Amino acid sequence: MRAFNRDCPRGIMWGKDKTDADADGGLKKAQVSGGKKCIALNMSIQETLRGKQMTPVYNPYDQEFVRLVRNGGPDANGQIAERSVSDGAGNPCRSCLKDIPESAEMLILAARPFPSLQPYAETGPIFLCADECSPWDGQGVPPVLRSSPDYLLKAYSEDDRIIYGTGKIVTTGDLNDYALALLERSNVAYVDVRSARNNCFQTRITRTR
Ligand SMILES: [Zn+2]
Repeated sequence: MRAFNRDCPRGIMWGKDKTDADADGGLKKAQVSGGKKCIALNMSIQETLRGKQMTPVYNPYDQEFVRLVRNGGPDANGQIAERSVSDGAGNPCRSCLKDIPESAEMLILAARPFPSLQPYAETGPIFLCADECSPWDGQGVPPVLRSSPDYLLKAYSEDDRIIYGTGKIVTTGDLNDYALALLERSNVAYVDVRSARNNCFQTRITRTR
């Protein structure tokens, strides 16, 4: 049973014990206030409960890496990107987050969207516009995530590990809401979107850019 309480201005009253509270990834730090347990909320949840709902941010791929491979530098496998021509469908650019237009040149390369090598740092294929494009900085779900009926979402911790139990294939219409629900958990650093059938990295969703 949760309820706001003036004795607990930073959080909510929680009628159960601390173990129950810890089971909810968005709750932390049990306090005693007015003889009752009081759970302080992380900032994103506090803002949500106050009506200032946090907005998931969809990020273009690291621009330093994008420039490097466009200029002939090594991809995540140490190879030069392959050049191909888009057929206009199913070739999402991870920089502008739009489908690469039919007949436009594109790059196919290996990417590892993690800062260091460790067991959870998956490497896989991505496409990029061969020519310079404008990295996505728009609001809401980018065009590239409207071309498939569903996507795989997975949440990661600050140390870039999968948070087990968060991986889920969601319909395109539910994608933003599920990302928001994950980002409201204090143990989630970011949410990755991958293709539901081929597991290709699409984009990373964060609270801020
Ligand atoms: Zn592009």
